[in-house]
Amino acid sequence: MTHSKTIKKEIDKALSTDRLANIIDPVRLEKNDKFQFRCHPDVPCFTRCCRNMNIILTPYDIIRLKRRLGMNSDMFLRLYAVPEILVKTGVPVARLKMLEKEGGKCPFVTQNGCQVYSDRPVCCRYYPIGMASLIQQEEDINKEEFFFLIKEPHCKGFLEKTEWTVNEWRGDQEADLYDSMNRGWFELLLRKRSFGDETEMPEKARALFYMITTNMERFRDFVFGSRFLDTYIVPEERLKKILEDDVELMQFGFDYLKNAIFGTETQELSIKKEILDKKVEEILRKRRHKTGLKGALKK
Ligand code: SF4
Ligand code: SF4
Repeated sequence: MTHSKTIKKEIDKALSTDRLANIIDPVRLEKNDKFQFRCHPDVPCFTRCCRNMNIILTPYDIIRLKRRLGMNSDMFLRLYAVPEILVKTGVPVARLKMLEKEGGKCPFVTQNGCQVYSDRPVCCRYYPIGMASLIQQEEDINKEEFFFLIKEPHCKGFLEKTEWTVNEWRGDQEADLYDSMNRGWFELLLRKRSFGDETEMPEKARALFYMITTNMERFRDFVFGSRFLDTYIVPEERLKKILEDDVELMQFGFDYLKNAIFGTETQELSIKKEILDKKVEEILRKRRHKTGLKGALKK
């Protein structure tokens, strides 16, 4: 198989579940590879791409946008988001609500461009560069990341002469910051996918997952206003941070979900021993009960 065929196959695999597959330029780019692109008010297609987009908002996108718009998460979600269940993972996410009555326009687009430009969602931010490790299968979590061009036919930005390396482009888009903020969330999605369809999330777990990954005010109330701290040990220093800082709270939420869904403990979040003992005892009791029933049926 030629090198380019191998790359094409790898990209196809990475994108097999994604409708983007037919608009990808199947060229693998490394960080120092160059491409030509510039988006500015004088391109004939200016802002035309900001409609009918399927934009999944990451938890960090929501924090940046609600802060930018000066509102709380409840208000932001009500005005700008639609809850959706991701098909492959069964995980609930928030999708940016397009304005159906206005031809599917993004609510943030104006004649002069994006009104939330410096806080726009990650998926608008990286365009036209895609990153394969963000969408690969769960077994590839630690695989080396690679990049590719998303070349949509209507986008005239590719005819411009401005040249970038992938690294320069990523620097300009704050990509490293966004990657580090979104990593915990992507890991949750990928890990959940590795559990397969048979481990469907119960309704209650879905609601909790959605709240923790979209609504920092409600999650904060949950941590400090429920019996959460009767169950979990959290160092005081971390508690102080999450009381004041949405980003710290978001990262804490990822740790909590990893613990609640996959049983992963960290030094900064662990379940209290007496609660754990109780849970183990309950599982064993259920198991004994089941075995007892099976034994009785066999007789
Ligand atoms: S289609 Fe491309 S060049 Fe045109 S506005 Fe959108 S990103 Fe910019
Ligand atoms: S958030 Fe900004 S860049 Fe993204 S689709 Fe809306 S207007 Fe366009």
